Amino acid sequence: MKVDETLKVTGLPEEGDEILNFLKTFRDYTQYIIDQVWNEENIPSVKTLHRRFYYELRSKGFRAHHVKQIYYHARSVVKAVKKSNGSKPVLRKLTARIDKYDYKLDLENQELIVKVLGGREDKIKLVAPKERFIKYKNWNNYELIIKYDGSRFWICIEFRREIKQHNARSVLAIDVNFDNVTILIKNNRRVVKVGRFSFPLRKALSHRIWIERIQKRYPKQWKYIKGIREAIRKHGRKIRNIINDSCHKIAEEITDIALKHRSLIVVENLKNLRINGKKNSKFSKKLSLWSYRKLLSYIEYECMEKGIPLVKVNPRKTSKLCPRCNGKLTSIKGRILRCSKCGFIGDRDVIACFNLISRCGVLGVTLNAPDQMQTQEGMKENKDEGMSLVIKCHKT
Ligand SMILES: [Zn+2]
Repeated sequence: MKVDETLKVTGLPEEGDEILNFLKTFRDYTQYIIDQVWNEENIPSVKTLHRRFYYELRSKGFRAHHVKQIYYHARSVVKAVKKSNGSKPVLRKLTARIDKYDYKLDLENQELIVKVLGGREDKIKLVAPKERFIKYKNWNNYELIIKYDGSRFWICIEFRREIKQHNARSVLAIDVNFDNVTILIKNNRRVVKVGRFSFPLRKALSHRIWIERIQKRYPKQWKYIKGIREAIRKHGRKIRNIINDSCHKIAEEITDIALKHRSLIVVENLKNLRINGKKNSKFSKKLSLWSYRKLLSYIEYECMEKGIPLVKVNPRKTSKLCPRCNGKLTSIKGRILRCSKCGFIGDRDVIACFNLISRCGVLGVTLNAPDQMQTQEGMKENKDEGMSLVIKCHKT
């Protein structure tokens, strides 16, 4: 799997004029090509452009790969403008994409050497804290963009890293609820771990309640009184921070657990994300949707970083059907559900996890364990597994 990231920093060139002159010439010849091809019926291919303009551009001092980038740039501008039926574009911005053959990047010393016109080179100091560069030490970089915004040079370096995913030995299911996140790990034989993290939606909602109370007390004035407005904004920020912080922490912990157990992670597909509880207010629904998205996107990111395979499955009815016989579940007490057909009893969230796991099996995910994982078969041996499991609560 490939991961792309862009590092954007300011650059201080040793000779600003040299690089500025390059950017201007680059822009002017991109414009020149646009002018030449604008009235043609079809946008010429890169090959055609190469035949028509290569020697002319080379004679202006460009290197071979500069020329190639000019073709690409001119073509993409013409294509975009024609698509939106615009009139002939006039380029103003000073920006050039530089091919890997035309620069040398030294992350250690935060230096960039760029080949400019006439075979000359210019050294650019990259200005940013060292930590921002360290991260990319083992990444590849294959292209960068130099921009000038009228006062400063910007360097955008495009990094890429190849990530090897581990071979899964178990499956870790994540079930997100209003006030908790439940995880369950199962290998081809048994449940290895069940855990629960508290999810602070209730805490976040208390700030919302405060906001609503104030708005109710001053229904007309609150928008116009600075103090109230600011207080409301402060509570809004608190809501975001609470959710952000805990999503980050939970995602990190869960993926660490998955790494330790060499798990494949299975989560609900966001496209058909369900919201439990009909009695929840409109805002709490919005907030829970927003925070689930946040949490799942953090988990997705961490999986990518740590090389953990991730599968998304349709969460429909995961807490309504029996994981053993697919019979209908009914609530017997609080969050405890019972199957009306086979008598299976279990915690609602644990059941949801079981169902997520069996769905990822249906999707054809095989584990490289000696035997094929058979959730339903495995569960027959232990009738009340869903009930007898001890859920370990994590502090977040
Ligand atoms: Zn059943």
